[in-house]
Amino acid sequence: MSAIASPSIVFVTGGNGFVGTTTVLELIKRGYKVKATIRSQAKADAFSKQYPAQSSSIEWVIVPDLTNEDAMTTATADVDYVIHMASPFHFNFKDSVKEVLEPAKEMTVVTLKAAAKHPRIKRVVITSSFVAVWDLMKDGGLWPGKTFTADDWNPATWEQGATVPNPFFVYSASKSLAEKAAYDFVQQEKPSFSITTFCPPIIYGPPQQPEVTTSNLNTSMNIIYSVLSGQAKEYPATGLPVFVDVRDLAYLQVAALTNEKAANQRYLAISDHWYFEELAQIVKEEFPEQASRLPLVVRTEGPVHFDFDVAKTERDFEIEWIPLRKTIVDTMKVLYAMEKEEKAGKA
Ligand code: NAP
Repeated sequence: MSAIASPSIVFVTGGNGFVGTTTVLELIKRGYKVKATIRSQAKADAFSKQYPAQSSSIEWVIVPDLTNEDAMTTATADVDYVIHMASPFHFNFKDSVKEVLEPAKEMTVVTLKAAAKHPRIKRVVITSSFVAVWDLMKDGGLWPGKTFTADDWNPATWEQGATVPNPFFVYSASKSLAEKAAYDFVQQEKPSFSITTFCPPIIYGPPQQPEVTTSNLNTSMNIIYSVLSGQAKEYPATGLPVFVDVRDLAYLQVAALTNEKAANQRYLAISDHWYFEELAQIVKEEFPEQASRLPLVVRTEGPVHFDFDVAKTERDFEIEWIPLRKTIVDTMKVLYAMEKEEKAGKA
């Protein structure tokens, strides 16, 4: 009688964030066990409280500092794959080097160094970003006429990241420098695993992370919520007019663990173009009771901007992207329900 194979174990960083939670839930849905770092026991408890049915599939490891190589070497023992998602993504920092550039790069390199000590690990998937591909300083970031592919790289240097007084530029530099460091590591150290990196632009989709409220949304969701909840009195200019649904990214990251074509490959993860008035129009049509909260929609076109080519992603993963309307409807359903509960809780 042949023995029943145990499920593969995936080590995850950033598993309690917006992208992380959807990815962890997708892993469990696909039959994986998860071993995840988290910065405190309280955060692990919050996840277990939110997802009691999944909690027996997750082993939490408290690692307050992901740049601690010894702790990360111990944490990555006895796993088959790694998905590294943790990275600072906020714009309210004082020290761009210590709070953003260094942690983004060091956490990536230390995760790879730790994984390289365990020959059992076959693939490391890294959540990079479209900001590691695109240069927001050129043509105001809009680059009309340009078609981006996964061969493009944001040219930002460490020195620019440390000195340019634009928080979005600093974040962009942190992502391209961290991703480049990952490919340098693989080239120099030749570990037994291969890596796959994904470059998603702004990510929308239903927020599922523990203890999420309308006041502590992650950065990308806060951007649309602030507009679609009517807090903004007019529609802002759309600075990064391409998006992906968080559920598509989670699908790709999990599928990449065992996809042979994805060994040492970089992929754009982009669904479609968007602009703020288009989102507002979708909300007005799908949630008419919310329409009066939103400013009048006058623009019927987004900014003229770059294009993107995701043929490689579609070919290697056979993905059918979730369309903008579905993403916005599913997202706003969750956010409007959250608002209602919060109001009821205060009453
Ligand atoms: P998020 O909700 O803020 O989650 C970030 C995760 O990373 C959390 O688990 C957080 O842990 C962890 N983290 C952040 N800084 C850390 C540090 N210094 N040490 C240890 N852990 C740290 O953000 P997200 O939107 O899910 O982003 C996840 C990944 O996707 C990031 O790599 C981000 O750059 C990338 N990405 C996001 C977007 C987007 O639009 N959301 C677009 C492109 C790429 P704590 O809970 O302990 O803080």
